[in-house]
Amino acid sequence: MNIAKVVVDVPVAQTNRIYDYLIPDAFIGTIDQGMRVIVPFGPRTIMGYVLAITNHSDLEKLREIKELMDVTPILTEELLSLGKWLANHTMSFYISAFQAMLPQALKANYQKEIHRLTDSSLTKELELIFADRDYITYQEFVKRNGSHQQLKKGIEDGDIEFVYQVNSKETVKKTTYILPKLSSLELEEQIADLPTQAKKKKEILEYFIANPSAIEKRELLKKLRTTDQTIKPLIEGGILSSEAKEVYRNPYRDDQIVRTEPLPLMKQQKEAIEPILEALDQKKHHVFLLHGVTGSGKTEIYLQAIAHTLIEGKESIVLVPEISLTPQMVKRFKGRFGSAVAVMHSALSNGERFDEWRKVQRKEVKVVVGARSAIFAPFENIGLIIIDEEHETTYKQEDHPRYHVRDVAIERARNHHCPVILGSATPTLESFARAQKGVYRLLSMPHRMNEGEMPKIHIADMRKELHAGNRTMFSRQLKEAIEERLEKKEQIVLFLNRRGYSTFVMCRDCGHVIECPHCDISLTYHRNKESLKCHYCSYEEKMPACCPECQSETIRYFGTGTQKVEETLQELIPGASVIRMDVDTTRRKGAHERLLDQFANKQADILLGTQMIAKGLDFANVTLVGVLAADSLLNLPDFRSAEKTFQLLTQVSGRAGRHHLEGEVIIQTYMPEHYSVELAANYNYLGFFQKEMELRKTYQYPPYYFLTLITVSHPNQLKALEITRTIGKLLYKHLSNHARILGPTPSPLVRVKDRYRFQCMIKYKNEPNQQKVLERILSYYESAMRKEDLLIQIDLQPYQL
Ligand code: ADP
Ligand code: ZN
Ligand code: ZN
Repeated sequence: MNIAKVVVDVPVAQTNRIYDYLIPDAFIGTIDQGMRVIVPFGPRTIMGYVLAITNHSDLEKLREIKELMDVTPILTEELLSLGKWLANHTMSFYISAFQAMLPQALKANYQKEIHRLTDSSLTKELELIFADRDYITYQEFVKRNGSHQQLKKGIEDGDIEFVYQVNSKETVKKTTYILPKLSSLELEEQIADLPTQAKKKKEILEYFIANPSAIEKRELLKKLRTTDQTIKPLIEGGILSSEAKEVYRNPYRDDQIVRTEPLPLMKQQKEAIEPILEALDQKKHHVFLLHGVTGSGKTEIYLQAIAHTLIEGKESIVLVPEISLTPQMVKRFKGRFGSAVAVMHSALSNGERFDEWRKVQRKEVKVVVGARSAIFAPFENIGLIIIDEEHETTYKQEDHPRYHVRDVAIERARNHHCPVILGSATPTLESFARAQKGVYRLLSMPHRMNEGEMPKIHIADMRKELHAGNRTMFSRQLKEAIEERLEKKEQIVLFLNRRGYSTFVMCRDCGHVIECPHCDISLTYHRNKESLKCHYCSYEEKMPACCPECQSETIRYFGTGTQKVEETLQELIPGASVIRMDVDTTRRKGAHERLLDQFANKQADILLGTQMIAKGLDFANVTLVGVLAADSLLNLPDFRSAEKTFQLLTQVSGRAGRHHLEGEVIIQTYMPEHYSVELAANYNYLGFFQKEMELRKTYQYPPYYFLTLITVSHPNQLKALEITRTIGKLLYKHLSNHARILGPTPSPLVRVKDRYRFQCMIKYKNEPNQQKVLERILSYYESAMRKEDLLIQIDLQPYQL
C-alpha cells in the first residue's frame, strides 16, 4: 500500500484527473485518505487531497509525496465520496468540490504549526527543537532536525500537538495556564527555603497554596503584579508548571443566552412532527416539505425533532439563509441545546469559523446551525437535516461548484439514512410540485400560533398617487398609517427591496449617466464617502463636481436608496426616529445586532431596511409594515420574478402583528392587478402555485422543463460571440431534437470586469446525453481556456437568470 491517489490543487482549467504518487517510507502507517499532502507537480510544489491509498498504479515512474499536512484526515470517507458526487452533479472539478467543503483556514496558504502541550515531559530532543517557544512551524521543526517519526511519537505521547496550518491569526488560539506541581505542604517548604529578598516568589507560592488550580498566566501576572521573569525560575525549578491550552474564539456572548424548555405542541404541530419522528426512528431518508405560514411554529418543530435526534445519539444540521442568521435565531438554538451547538456562517472571522469546524470534527458538538456551506459539516452520524426557508435564493451557489444545497442535503441524507425537513411559508414551485406528486411528503401548518390572525394587507396604487399629484415615495395611505402608529407609540418596519435601489448619478443638462469603465453598469453613489462605486468589480472614484461630458454643475444622484427614503421620511414626518439598516450601516462587526437591539428596546419608531430585515425578526411592538416599491422585482428579466415577488411580500407581511397587537401591511405598487401582488395580499399560496405553474408550462420553464445555462466570456467581444455561436451549433447537432437551444444572446450584463459575456440556454425534459456533449465541448476548448483567457461556465441548474 504505497501509492496515493491525489487530487491536486491546480487552476480550474485543468482536467479532472487523479494523480498517482509514491508514498515515502516515512509516511507509511501515518498517511490516510482524506489528508492533505504536498506534492511535486511539473516544476511546482502544490497541495492535494489523498482520495485513496492503494498498491497499484498503471504508471511506472512515480514521483514522491513531499509532505504530509495532516495527522488525522480532514475529509471523512463520506465527504470524499460526496465530493466526487458533487463534482459530477455540477460538472465541476474535484478540487473545487473539496475546497467548497472546508473552512478557509484549511485551504491554500498553509503554514503548519506544532504546539508543545507540556513543559516538563518533553524528550531532550524535542526540548531542543522547541527551545523556548510554545509553538513552531512545521518548516522550523524540520530545520531544527525534527523528523516525521518524532512528530508522530510526540503526538502519541501527548507531548505535542500538530495543528493543521495557516497563518498565525487564523490558526488555533492558545492560552498559557500556570498551575502548581507540588502539594500545599511542599509549597510551604519551598517558601521556607526562599531567601528573604525573594518577596514576589513567596507571594506567588502563597497564592497557589490558597488557590491550587490552574490560572491563566496573563491573569496571574496581573493579579500579583509580577512578570514572566519571576515565574520562569519557578517553572524551571519544577515547582510550577505552565501549560498551553487551546481556547475557542466565541463570537456569541454565552451569558446572554437564556435556556428554554420544549413547549407543549399545538394540534397542527403534533400532526406535523409525528411522521418526522417516525422517519427518524426508522432511519428513512424521507424528504418532508413543511409548509407553514410565518409564525405557525415551524422553528419549535425543528427544535423538538433535533432533541429527538440527540436522544438517539445522532447529529443534526440546520441550514438557515445567511441574512436570517441573526443573533436572535442563533439564540433560539443555543437556548435549547447550549454548548452542543456550533454556528457557521460568513460573518464570522476565519479563525472563528475554523474553531467551530473543529468542534464538529472533534465531536464536541451535536448540532450545527449555519448558512449554505454548513451542509458539509464533518459529522459522521447525521440523524436529521433541516433547511429553513427552503425557497431562499442564497441556497444556490453561483460559483464553482454551482450546487443547490437542497440536492446536497438529500444526497447526504441518503448516505446517512436520515430524513430531511424543508421548511417554508412559500415553498419553491419545484418543491411543492414534488410534494404534490408524492416525491416529498407534505406537512401543512396553516394557522399562526397564539391564535394570531395574519395581518390585513392593503394595496396602495401608486398610479393613483401620481394622478393626485403626490410625487413622493409615500402614498397618502402609508403616511397616515405611520402617523397613526407614532401616536399610539407602536413601531413600524419599512421595507425597500435592494434590487430596486440604484442611486446612479446623472447630469440634468445632457443626461449623461456615469458608468463603470470596466462594466456595463452605472456607478452607485455612496454618500458617506462622497464616492461612486461599481457593485460588480469594486471600482471606485470620487464624486465629480461637474459633468464629465458637458461640464455642467447640475450633476446629481437619482434613485431610491435607503438613504434617500430616510431623508424623505424626515421631511414628510418630522420627529419620527428612524433606524436604517443596509449594507452601509451594517458593515462594521456587531452593527447588525446593535441596531436590532436598539429597535427592540424602542429607541426608534421606524426600522427602515433592505432584504436583511425581511425575515427572521420578531418584534412584539411592530404593528405596521410598509413595502415601498413592490414592483422592483417584477421588472427583472427572470422567469422566477413573480415567484420571488410573491415570496418576498409574504415574508415581509409576516413581520407585522406577531404577538398580541393586531398588524397591518401596506404594499405600494404600480401594478396592483399583477397576480403575484394580488394573491400575496390574500395569502393565497395555492392559488399562486396553480397560476404560476400554468405559466411555467406554457413558457417551458422549470419545474416542467430543465434548464442549462452556458456562459462564455472573453476580453474580445467578437471572439466571445463567435465561440458562443459555435457552441450553439454543436449543441444543436448533438442533442436530441426535443431539446430547445436558445441563443446566443448577450448575458444580462454584457461587460463585467472588461470581459464580454454571451450565453446559450438549453431547455429540455429528458436529455441523457447532455452531460457527455457538454464535456466534449469543454475539452474541445480546453487549450483555448488555458492560453487565451477564455472562460466557459456551465450551470446545470440556473436559479437566477
Ligand atoms: P415559524 O418558525 O413558523 O415562523 P415560530 O416557531 O417562530 O414560527 O413560532 C412563532 C411563535 O410561536 C414563537 O414566538 C414561538 O415561541 C411560539 N410557539 C411556537 N410553538 C408554540 C407552542 N407549541 N406553544 C406556544 N407557543 C409556541
Ligand atoms: Zn465595474
Ligand atoms: Zn452633462
